[in-house]
Amino acid sequence: MIQGEDGVGAREAQVREEQKAVLLTVDDDPSVSRAVARDLRKRYGQGLRVVRAGSGAEGLEVLRELKLRGQRVAVVLADYRMPEMSGIEFLEAAMDLFPRARRALLTAYADTDAAIAAINVVDVDHYLLKPWDPPEEKLYPVVDAMLEAYRREPDAPVAETKVVGNRWSRRSYEVRDFLARNAVPYRWLSDTSPEAERLLKAAEVGNDELPVVITPEGSALVAPSAAELADAVGLATTPATDFYDLIVVGGGPAGLGAAVYGASEGLRTLLVERQATGGQAGQSSRIENYLGFPDGVSGAQLTDRARRQAVKFGTEILTSCDVVGLRAEGPARVLTFDDGREIAAHTVIIATGVSYRELEAPGVAELTGRGVFYGSAMTEAAHCTDEDVYLVGGANSAGQAAVYFARYAPSVTLLVRGESLEASMSHYLIEQLRALDNVHVRLRTQVGEAFGDQGLQGLRLTGAEGGGEEVPAGHLFVFIGARPHTDWLEGVVERDEHGFIRTGADLVTDGRRPAGWLPDRDPWLLESSLPGVFVAGDVRADSVKRVASAVGEGAMAVTLVHRYLGAS
Ligand SMILES: Cc1cc2nc3c(=O)[nH]c(=O)nc-3n(C[C@H](O)[C@H](O)[C@H](O)COP(=O)(O)OP(=O)(O)OC[C@H]3O[C@@H](n4cnc5c(N)ncnc54)[C@H](O)[C@@H]3O)c2cc1C
Repeated sequence: MIQGEDGVGAREAQVREEQKAVLLTVDDDPSVSRAVARDLRKRYGQGLRVVRAGSGAEGLEVLRELKLRGQRVAVVLADYRMPEMSGIEFLEAAMDLFPRARRALLTAYADTDAAIAAINVVDVDHYLLKPWDPPEEKLYPVVDAMLEAYRREPDAPVAETKVVGNRWSRRSYEVRDFLARNAVPYRWLSDTSPEAERLLKAAEVGNDELPVVITPEGSALVAPSAAELADAVGLATTPATDFYDLIVVGGGPAGLGAAVYGASEGLRTLLVERQATGGQAGQSSRIENYLGFPDGVSGAQLTDRARRQAVKFGTEILTSCDVVGLRAEGPARVLTFDDGREIAAHTVIIATGVSYRELEAPGVAELTGRGVFYGSAMTEAAHCTDEDVYLVGGANSAGQAAVYFARYAPSVTLLVRGESLEASMSHYLIEQLRALDNVHVRLRTQVGEAFGDQGLQGLRLTGAEGGGEEVPAGHLFVFIGARPHTDWLEGVVERDEHGFIRTGADLVTDGRRPAGWLPDRDPWLLESSLPGVFVAGDVRADSVKRVASAVGEGAMAVTLVHRYLGAS
């Protein structure tokens, strides 16, 4: 097949064309416009993409689109005398979007004086007299000079997802966190940077509507919801079918473990995750105690591999889908999403894990996402290089985060309510913290208040060692205790007094099976009080809160799924 005729070849040719810098000509006279474009293509068509527009407004539309797609514009030629928007007005607006593009005015002889005056007003590089025949003498030397000037200081093409936002906006943080945790590469632009201003102008969006996400295809999403974002960056949000052998709710280590074993053992498996696969483990900067990784592994790396492994075996993964209901309909188990959609399966594995409890102190809720974060929020590390960082918590997660942020921040302080770290943190982590000069541990200390206008600026510390002291702080990361994600299961499955789901022998009291239990057997290990619904990982009552045990329980739950399917 001839290259360029098949779909792939045509697409490659289009991609190659789009990678070229653009040479834009704007003229309202169609015959002149065609002639300019023809002459330009003849000489520059190999290396540049020649684009033409019939008015200033159309030219700006083209430039806005090119800006959003992250493409480069090397040269802009505009006719001086155009109705509605003159060439000068157009070039002035073009400069706002592509300040590095070289600019020239096309003028008739009679307009020369006005055009020359304009050179000083809008910093036009050249003016070209019409007609320019022969182009070898009158057009190309001028364009050559402009191209040479452009090549000395070109724009970098940016064909990637861009996020324009405010550093102190909670929603901007959530968008960045969502993209990072779903392994979508993006470029962050603070709204005050000149390039951000150009992009907002191109997208015709105001600073009060942030964050704006610009896809590589050039679409601008204004303050998108997680589902809109997921759709735009190509994460699936709709199931391929409406009935599965197994639906796994939650994409942390337990859910991913279940998905890998379920799909690899031939079950039609769907994994539903409300945020990003990886769960808590995905936020861990370094997991040192997972079997097979003597040098430790970042949680994001480990869970990204698990996600790919699950997909390789045929698991379907839905992201940004919050499961809010579960019921039995005969032998089927029906799940409801937060947008009302329903989906059914023979069996369900609940692996919804836990999240951190909220820190209760004045100012904390208002500043969450604007300096106060739950978990280690690794995307924030780059902002910590000249600010003191505080962490609350005395368990391993807080210790790991302290080690991680100590690489970026001048000073990291761990605030611990208890008398010592030994009771709650692994020995190896305590040793690591002791070896770091910029990490300080303050025992018997709590956050009494968080304050700041735009974002967090300081903390008031209370407790034996901190009694009412105010300290400047740019970041506060909170790691205090866990709350299971089971509110949606109230009245559906049995839970303990803290909300963790009871399973197996825990459900049988004095030989009595749970209320409404129909099978002629006791609930199996990891089975909830609703037959065919199994539970794995941190969300299970009395489970060991570790990555390895979560993965193990996910795998074990799949064995029980097989047993259940075989028996029913
Ligand atoms: C910072 C940090 C460091 C840690 N370090 C270590 C370590 O070094 N070693 C170790 O062994 N353990 C470590 N842990 C603990 C370990 O990460 C957890 O034990 C493990 O992640 C539990 O896995 P899980 O799948 O049960 O739950 P989670 O990881 O909590 O995952 C649950 C998932 O379910 C999703 N979900 C919740 N509700 C719903 C719903 N209704 N619908 C759809 N999806 C839902 C959540 O978004 C989440 O992705 C650490 C934890 C943290 C936070």
